[in-house]
Amino acid sequence: MVTIYIFILGLFFGSFLNVLADRLPAGETLLGRSKCDRCKHTLGWRDLIPIISFIELKAKCRYCKASLSYQYPLSELFTAAIFLLTWILSNNLYTSLPLHIVHLIIAGTLVVMVLSDLRYQIIPDEMQLLLLLAGAIRIALLGLNQSDFTISDWFLMYGWAFVHGLIVMSPLLLVHVITKGKGMGFGDVKFAFITGFILNLWSGLGALYIGFVSGGIIGAFLLLTKQGRPKTKIAFGPFLIIGFYLMIFFENDVTYWISRIYGF
Ligand SMILES: [Zn+2]
Repeated sequence: MVTIYIFILGLFFGSFLNVLADRLPAGETLLGRSKCDRCKHTLGWRDLIPIISFIELKAKCRYCKASLSYQYPLSELFTAAIFLLTWILSNNLYTSLPLHIVHLIIAGTLVVMVLSDLRYQIIPDEMQLLLLLAGAIRIALLGLNQSDFTISDWFLMYGWAFVHGLIVMSPLLLVHVITKGKGMGFGDVKFAFITGFILNLWSGLGALYIGFVSGGIIGAFLLLTKQGRPKTKIAFGPFLIIGFYLMIFFENDVTYWISRIYGF
């Protein structure tokens, strides 16, 4: 029953996250009401019900009849699916409600990052900060499960998280510096830091590994099928983000398979 609520919550958040993904990279205010891109008519609540408005209006603006992009219902469904998946995975691994909520927040930031990166090749800093904050809370919640935590333990825990972030970030930073930002955007470098910070060293490197392998396979596929020329830019962020997401919930399985493949 809860899963239905989570799905509907995801639909409404999807609509909001879609707005964030469009406005944050452009530096636009988040306070303005939604408007039609074509006729600039302010949209009312009846135009903004996820999925339902789109179907009711037959993919056209109520006021000027301009076609509406399928990106709206697709990103709403995508967010709802990710929220549902995150809820189920989190419930499989943990029993703490605050942790489930933190995981939903993390999933939400990742959705905005993927949409922004695919559309504008930008991972918004606001989402990076929110992810870092959610990650810090996650570390605290996981730490609370262990008894007898002293102040110095907390310092050590965040200190190590910081060091792991720096290590996981360093290969991407190197590529960024060598290629003068052309091979690797700085947004990806910052995301890699957060990956290491939240996941710890080995899982953070595992997330990078998944990102590089899946990105490489898709890139090679696009080249071979002549979909992209050698100079076509492929957003690397979404692959890193997928790697990060998988490592949150499948840490042990992925580490197991990587060690099986490489025989250590
Ligand atoms: Zn319109």
